[in-house]
Amino acid sequence: MPFELPPLPYDYAALEPHIDEQTMRIHHDKHHQTYVDKANAALAGTEWADSSPEEILQRLDTISPEKRTAIRNHVGGVANHTFFWESMGPGKGGEPSGDLAAAIEQAFGDFDSFKQQLTDVSVNHFGSGWGWLVYNGATLELLSTINQDSPLSLGMHPLLACDVWEHAYYLKYQNRRPDYVGAWWNVVDWGKVTERFTSARSHV
Ligand code: MN
Repeated sequence: MPFELPPLPYDYAALEPHIDEQTMRIHHDKHHQTYVDKANAALAGTEWADSSPEEILQRLDTISPEKRTAIRNHVGGVANHTFFWESMGPGKGGEPSGDLAAAIEQAFGDFDSFKQQLTDVSVNHFGSGWGWLVYNGATLELLSTINQDSPLSLGMHPLLACDVWEHAYYLKYQNRRPDYVGAWWNVVDWGKVTERFTSARSHV
């Protein structure tokens, strides 16, 4: 089954003023749609045509070299954007609690230190890519990936993602990536991140 663009799980303007409506419309309706279309074109006629984006990204190394780059880029773009939309919501932000809060303290010292470190990873990533909080099977880690590369291809369980491609912020923030990342924290859905953490721990 070809992939379809999933609807945004909230209104385009729901993340205002932190992420503006026009950016969300173009980012979802144009950029994400293009990844869906190009992923479908890359997968057409291959043995992967019925696999989920996540299954494909976990097994990228088994894909033939002539197909691998297109699949890595476009299937990565499909999965990363769905993951990104679901990582945010209106009226979110704040801090996690429970086991996730404890794991963050264990890995990074405290929440503020974690927040600063993921901000630094995202702001300082050179060029297009993503900042990530991941679970590696034992503890939490931060990393950044280039282009549309997914931590799934590194054997990691992604928990939270910040899109630092210019298309994610340039209309409102222009060159001020630190301002965008600072505002992004106000829409992080910790309930969703906690759900992913619980699921990842039960699957290792
Ligand atoms: Mn994007």
